[in-house]
Amino acid sequence: MDFEEIEQRAKHWDQRDQIRAARELERIRNQNIQHWYCDRGRRCDGKPHENYPYKHARGDQWPPAGQDWFLWFIMSGRGTGKTRSGGNFARKMSQYTPRIALIGRRGPDVRQTMIEGPSGLIRSCELAGESYDWKPALKEFTFQSGAKAFGYSGEEPDSLRGPEHGAFWADEPSHMPLIEEVWYNLLLGLRVPGVPGGAKGLATSTPLPNEWTKRISAKESTRLVRVPTSINIDNLDQTYRENVIAVLEGTRIGQQELEGLILEDVEGSLWKNYMIQHSTVDFEEMDKVVVGVDPAGTANRKSDETGIVVVGRRAKEFFVLQDASGKYSPQAWAQEVDRLYRAYKANSVVVETNFGGDMVKQNLVNSGSDALVVERRATRGKDVRAEPVVALYEQKRVFHKDGLGRLENEMTTWVPGVGASPNRVDALVWAINELNGGTSEAAFLSARSLMPSRPTNPRLNPIKALIQGRR
Ligand SMILES: [Zn+2]
Repeated sequence: MDFEEIEQRAKHWDQRDQIRAARELERIRNQNIQHWYCDRGRRCDGKPHENYPYKHARGDQWPPAGQDWFLWFIMSGRGTGKTRSGGNFARKMSQYTPRIALIGRRGPDVRQTMIEGPSGLIRSCELAGESYDWKPALKEFTFQSGAKAFGYSGEEPDSLRGPEHGAFWADEPSHMPLIEEVWYNLLLGLRVPGVPGGAKGLATSTPLPNEWTKRISAKESTRLVRVPTSINIDNLDQTYRENVIAVLEGTRIGQQELEGLILEDVEGSLWKNYMIQHSTVDFEEMDKVVVGVDPAGTANRKSDETGIVVVGRRAKEFFVLQDASGKYSPQAWAQEVDRLYRAYKANSVVVETNFGGDMVKQNLVNSGSDALVVERRATRGKDVRAEPVVALYEQKRVFHKDGLGRLENEMTTWVPGVGASPNRVDALVWAINELNGGTSEAAFLSARSLMPSRPTNPRLNPIKALIQGRR
């Protein structure tokens, strides 16, 4: 029986019974109320405590303090309670201003996520014990205060031209292709008074390093809040943790989606974020596959990781297939390299032999590997060696499999001359240069060191051709 039904029946009761029933209903409703903002204020971690025996707002889910801000920008990953913050922000704003804009990435997002979603506006009002009215056909939501929120699609910036508002909530604005127009029209219409200190808005978004996001988050009137997914880990169900987090963790896209980091280009780095493209191509389609190795301890570097990167070539394109770099004993990395060599039916293993070159080869032989080892001597600076590889990335000829976040981080944050070059990057550079005809070191190679074409069946061709780069 819902409240409306009770109301209908109660019409026939005498007044005393009606009053008693109303009190009882009031009591039941109050019992179910869950206040979002608790009396500990912004210091609270949002976990249940006295008088608030349920999950509620963490400090970072409170609107910014003071009145001198315009935009509250929550930049965070999935599952950090952004929608709940948004619903409650809109509800709070309904106390001050009669007209609020709700802008979703697409039309259906407003309804499905921002309003009817499990943490949306309706749920926020229900938990607060506040009545509401929702007319999906009109995209019009009426709060208990009488204030109205209107839904807009980020795909239709013109729909924001004309209507005026005193506050707004934009969900995923960084991911709206037309955000510049949306933003312009929205700002022009923020003329409805009421909010202390002037119109205010909330943007909830997983970050994207685009021009709008960078510009807006850097503004003085913006209060940027970054929330890592780990803050809300208790609230995420087990399936989500296993399916989504496990898959995304350690990847670049994961950093963006889970940790709420904007992936900024590093000044002076050779590789920029935009250069890295992804592909799901199968290694079986490769003309040639090479395992690049940069062993720990073969040079006077700080890192004790061994770089192991598998790269394939198909026609004029290169595919980074796997990054198995890590901390290994010499025996362990030799076994791993041999395993990858077999798994990918690789043509060769390419290693740098500046120091202890024999040791590298010997390790592989000792581990029982019959991998074809190509030894390359580093004769020039690492940045010089990396340049032709960077050029291939610039030409959009290199693709990465998903899940290569650590390698990509090292690529886009290494600045030549500042710190040692990372082993993963070195292994990648050796592998791609090798597949590209060894061009960067070509002047130092003899004729017999040219790569043999890929044997039709490596198993039938177990000759250990050790090709040595010359001084
Ligand atoms: Zn609290």
